Amino acid sequence: MSIYLSIILPVHNEAEVIAETHRRVQAVCEAVGQPYEILVVNDGSTDGTWDLLRGLAQRDPHLVAVDLSRNHGHQLALTAGLAQARGERVLIMDADLQDPPELLPDLMRALDDGADVAYAQRRTRLGDAPLKRFFCAVFYRGLARIADVPVQLDSGDFRLLSRRVVDALGRMPERHRFLRGMISWLGYRQVPVFYDRGARHAGESKYPFRKLVKLALDAVVSSSLRPLSFALVVGGLTGLIGVALLGYALFSWLFVGQTPAGWTSLLIAIVLMGSLQLLMLGILGEYLGRIYIQTRGRPIYLVNQVVGGEHAAAPLDSRPSAP
Ligand code: UDP
Ligand code: MG
Repeated sequence: MSIYLSIILPVHNEAEVIAETHRRVQAVCEAVGQPYEILVVNDGSTDGTWDLLRGLAQRDPHLVAVDLSRNHGHQLALTAGLAQARGERVLIMDADLQDPPELLPDLMRALDDGADVAYAQRRTRLGDAPLKRFFCAVFYRGLARIADVPVQLDSGDFRLLSRRVVDALGRMPERHRFLRGMISWLGYRQVPVFYDRGARHAGESKYPFRKLVKLALDAVVSSSLRPLSFALVVGGLTGLIGVALLGYALFSWLFVGQTPAGWTSLLIAIVLMGSLQLLMLGILGEYLGRIYIQTRGRPIYLVNQVVGGEHAAAPLDSRPSAP
């Protein structure tokens, strides 16, 4: 029997929520009434999540548990799930129930109506800290201004994808993945479905500040080349200021008879120019490092084992195949 619907749940230390998430996802899938699979990707958990998953897989024939070789990060865990998914439609969502599985019928309806991507857009986001909400809102609006592709505001990875979108993603071999941006790049018809985002069911966020910054950098670098031209613009501007200052110095030497005093202004100029140059080097480095990592051509993640479903014989490592 071919699978119609795949649900992908990436988990990193979610022992406190996984049973409840499984229960709620199972309920909505049963209500859809089509053959389905629940793919849980264990992203290097150290808290007993994997043992729980193995137990769940024994009881639920719909559950496929994929164990990555270590913590590869949320975006790669999703990628591993996408590579394993067999469904005609694939739902990706967080495992902590901040993304309510009960939105599935609405998302399905959008695909029935001809969309290829139905992305869940937050109407409210009361479950997250105010400071995080503020920075995310500012960041994504800034990203929208510089990105080469449309940025879907107020939405995360919670979305339902058609088979051709999943196949297309499998042909995008980049190592530093920002899936939302990659999906947006694909085009086709992408429509929002609105929901209210609550708080985590249990446990703490598995996205510490460090991982958020990494994701933000990946988002910018993978969506835009504009930071590179930033150097040109700033260089041009400081050049103009330099020429103006030179004119001023020459003028006062020739006509006033003295060179302008200004140890402080000199030092400010030196420090400012030095930090600007380092900033530009840093921006270059972000792009350069990614080029280096990509050229090594390593698999982007490794799978340790797959339990449940008919997946026992699935390949043990995977990289999105080149087109
Ligand atoms: N996650 C993951 N690998 C990681 C970090 C997080 O698979 O390295 C999963 C996590 O278990 C959850 C989802 O990604 O299912 C979103 O993480 P979380 O809810 O902690 O992020 P937040 O909602 O706080 O931004
Ligand atoms: Mg969360």
